[in-house]
Amino acid sequence: MTAKRDYYEVLGVSRSATQDALKKSYRRLAMKYHPDKNSDDEDATEMFKELTEAFQILSDPNKRARYDRFGHAAPDDFGMGAAGVDISSMTDFFESIFGSVFGGGAPRRRRRRGRPGRDLQYDLELELEDAVSGVQVDITVPRPVRCKTCEGSGAAPGSGPTRCSQCDGVGSVRLQQGIFAVSTTCPVCHGSGETIHDKCSECAGQGLTVQEEEFSVSIPAGIEDGAVKIIPGGGEHGRGGAPDGDLHVMVRVKRHETFLRRGQELHCVVSISYPQAVLGAEIEVPTIKSSAIMKVKPGTENGQTYRLKGKGVPSLRGSYVGDQLIHIEVEVPKKLTERQRELVEELGRELGGATSPQARSHSFIERLKDFFD
Ligand SMILES: [Zn+2]
Ligand SMILES: [Zn+2]
Repeated sequence: MTAKRDYYEVLGVSRSATQDALKKSYRRLAMKYHPDKNSDDEDATEMFKELTEAFQILSDPNKRARYDRFGHAAPDDFGMGAAGVDISSMTDFFESIFGSVFGGGAPRRRRRRGRPGRDLQYDLELELEDAVSGVQVDITVPRPVRCKTCEGSGAAPGSGPTRCSQCDGVGSVRLQQGIFAVSTTCPVCHGSGETIHDKCSECAGQGLTVQEEEFSVSIPAGIEDGAVKIIPGGGEHGRGGAPDGDLHVMVRVKRHETFLRRGQELHCVVSISYPQAVLGAEIEVPTIKSSAIMKVKPGTENGQTYRLKGKGVPSLRGSYVGDQLIHIEVEVPKKLTERQRELVEELGRELGGATSPQARSHSFIERLKDFFD
């Protein structure tokens, strides 16, 4: 294979050529090498492809800028290479700009093979527990599948599709306006080149019927809200030998009553009594999988955070497991019995002025605001 020629050289223009000059040059040269004028001339076809590719790149300001900077070595999605590109997509491109300039020539038959199935999307609601631990879920999806009666053709049994009379099977029609002509998809057959006279009654000529189908979806531990699992070939059936679409399973994680997820961490709020805060305690706290015993240190303040290592969310890649963070809320009793009031009053006298009220720069609410808004 020879090295690719410079796009400007191909189009015979300078590197500073205007869009208008590019277009003029492309039109002149492409007309010369157009396949409709040079049937069976492979060299001309290659020239036409090369010209069209060069123009497709240089007529797009972004692609042109990248080409100017990187040349043919530009990263991906850019130089698609003329080889292997369907010539009809190139002539379609030419016609989309200049119209059908070879009116009267033999119409090229589009070699459309069937219609590929569309992708389907399914929203899967998950409990946070399942998202953290991973789960196998069976889902039922209403899926358009090839009609069994007509085997996807849309024609009644015993009949078949016939050539579209509007476009004579080409799939496109020419619209002429003065000297301009454009080619557009045939409105009758929608580009397939075929129409059905005797429609299949089962699918009303659509070739597809909706059927409930079950899929087993494997959800990995640690999956996040909004993640999409793709089941290849799980979408709408293709027709006429075209491939089936894919099924996109979009994961939606429900809001949890106790836990809030932030990345690999799980947060929750646990209330303790005033004496527990002062004296310290061993308390039972909920975890996403069950519960754990945790030590509260004497003198724990409202809003203080404790960390349970490895009780959070596992990462999808690697073996790291996040932590659980426990935000302590010290409960202040609102109603007291006579006896309780006496005790608190006594405590108050005992403490005297030792604890003077102070304005706190970081209140409990402020600290939690980051997590619970
Ligand atoms: Zn049918
Ligand atoms: Zn048609």
